[in-house]
Amino acid sequence: MFSKKAIGSILFSLLPFLSAKGYSAVKLESGTLSEKWIHGSASCSSNTDPAIQVHPYNENLTILRQSKCINYEGPFIYLFFGETRAIMFDTGATKSAISFPIQKTIEELLVQHYGVAERANIQLVVAHTHGHGDHVAGDTQFKGKANTIVVGITASAVSKFFGLKSWPEGSAEFDLGGRILQIVPIPGHEDSHIAVYDQQTGILISGDTLYPGRLYIRDWAAYRKSVARLTAFLADKEVTHVLGAHIEMSTTPGVDYPVGTTYQPSEHDLPLTKETLDLLNTRLLDLGALPQEDIQDDFIIYPL
Ligand SMILES: [Zn+2]
Ligand SMILES: [Zn+2]
Repeated sequence: MFSKKAIGSILFSLLPFLSAKGYSAVKLESGTLSEKWIHGSASCSSNTDPAIQVHPYNENLTILRQSKCINYEGPFIYLFFGETRAIMFDTGATKSAISFPIQKTIEELLVQHYGVAERANIQLVVAHTHGHGDHVAGDTQFKGKANTIVVGITASAVSKFFGLKSWPEGSAEFDLGGRILQIVPIPGHEDSHIAVYDQQTGILISGDTLYPGRLYIRDWAAYRKSVARLTAFLADKEVTHVLGAHIEMSTTPGVDYPVGTTYQPSEHDLPLTKETLDLLNTRLLDLGALPQEDIQDDFIIYPL
């Protein structure tokens, strides 16, 4: 019906669609983000929110948020399920298992996902986007627990665990069993900071390096390089959402909530995009070598 030449030219004309933007044809697993996160209260003493909000993005990724009434940081925590391992990034801002039962909550999620018997064959990896107190305080609840490994919080401990051979250059793959996470060192906010790209959902976990809020920068030069490296790393990848560790912006562009607030009634959405990261990279290039504050609609560059 078609000549070889005709078939060839049809295939050729399809090529731009097949390789649109250079993305691979792998279908990403979709999910849903919470419409409304718990966001503290005008009166925390009479607040009835749970200490931890648990939101299934899909059956293989759970997003948790700590109540701002327990700690004003209200950090987000991410739990990825694979076939042989599960990994969580960050353990929250509070040590106490009584006021903030993060280990119990995660254990219940693991049993729910794998079943009681299979849970014993699954390793839980407790890792961190970085080593600040509001991301590691819950670690003590996990130490010594069965089938649980807690990753250290220095850059050398993180490099060693993930097999990052030339920190902060390069990236490493971490296999959860049928699911690869890519780990990219991004120091600058803090020395041991990493970003995590999930090949299954196309989600990027960006910690405190990029979220809708004040991007506190301790090492300006390292941060600029990290954001440039991360931008380059993602250039050929599809990114569905950039999910950070906090929300501090309001729904009014460029306006943040005050530091330490325990009530954010109209806070910015959690997800940012690859375009937000590109904008951050462009702003950092434009600002140059000297640290400067810079207010954008969705984030504030905030050198310390
Ligand atoms: Zn931090
Ligand atoms: Zn933080």
